[in-house]
Amino acid sequence: MVQTLVVKIGTSSLTRPPAGGLALSTIASLVETLSHLRHQGYRVVLVSSGAVGVGCARLGLSDRPRTIALKQAVAAVGQGRLIRVYDDLFTALQQPIAQVLLTRGDLVQRTSYLNVERTFQELLNLGVIPIVNENDTVAVDELRFGDNDTLSALVASLVGADWLFLLTDVDRLYSADPRLDPNAQPISVVNHVDELKSLQVQVGDRGSNWGTGGMQTKVSAAQIATGAGVRTVITEGRTPQNIVKILAGASIGTHFEPQPRPASARKRWIAHGLVPTGKLYLDEGAVNAICSGGKSLLAAGIIAVEGNFDHQDAVVLCDRNGQEIARGLVNYSSFELEKVKGCQSEAIEPLLGYSCPETVVHRDNLTLTGL
Ligand code: GLU
Repeated sequence: MVQTLVVKIGTSSLTRPPAGGLALSTIASLVETLSHLRHQGYRVVLVSSGAVGVGCARLGLSDRPRTIALKQAVAAVGQGRLIRVYDDLFTALQQPIAQVLLTRGDLVQRTSYLNVERTFQELLNLGVIPIVNENDTVAVDELRFGDNDTLSALVASLVGADWLFLLTDVDRLYSADPRLDPNAQPISVVNHVDELKSLQVQVGDRGSNWGTGGMQTKVSAAQIATGAGVRTVITEGRTPQNIVKILAGASIGTHFEPQPRPASARKRWIAHGLVPTGKLYLDEGAVNAICSGGKSLLAAGIIAVEGNFDHQDAVVLCDRNGQEIARGLVNYSSFELEKVKGCQSEAIEPLLGYSCPETVVHRDNLTLTGL
């Protein structure tokens, strides 16, 4: 079975402080490693940050841009240079690459999500390594991924990857920030992201100077990817060769075990492609019916409604404490649900004055994401 790998590398691994020049030896070994894996038959996607960092270095700016317009302009300068370097190095090894720039909006619409998915499949069928980044130059706030850890997890879900490697500036996850706490304990395996809460791991949110992620975004990315059935590994970016060793079974980095993969690509899109616009709080009966019984959500099980949404928008379903259990496409607007929450199905039509679907979220439009 051909395996698909998504490898994400961050700005802190790709550039050298203080001026932000390219870490050429790291990039070269990444290129060698990925080309080698391609020749071994793996399908490979690279998610690379660095547009803003490289743009700043090119323009001689010593601080990360603070205004959105400047950041977008700088990213336009850096992205071209970054791809140029990748293309030169990959071409030396006869490995074709492609540039894929995405915004969050490209995954929200079902048709454009499918379009992006088909493009990836064609690129991978052609033996190309797609190099993905957020389209920083045009992305606007509400439709941004925000960080490439999240982007890489969504891409891993989209392409149905087997592995996601998050390459970073520490060798693995620790029980505390090893840069600050000498007693920080290394963590090798995480069976479920919830374990980290009980271990009281402090993931912090401190990224490096140039990148935007920290351990927090990596753990959230691991949660998204493992929820989509993708084994996720956090490991050091300076030694990309380790990917080959990890694939051969070496215990390097922190491994997050994959959860069962959602049955269909559509269910993965519901879970991870969409941006939820509301939240429904459910009673215990509804939580059980959905989590254990594979049932649809009915109005009777809804305790509270949050957000403004319309028919067929994406919503998060959570228990009464706000813990997420699932996501789905809703058959009612938030306005209607405020009126009918807690009601038995037969009471809905008299209350609203017109007939409505029996289910609030049908099980075909619902994917379990938590608990
Ligand atoms: N897309 C940003 C860039 O290329 C990086 C985002 C991140 O660091 O996660 O500079």
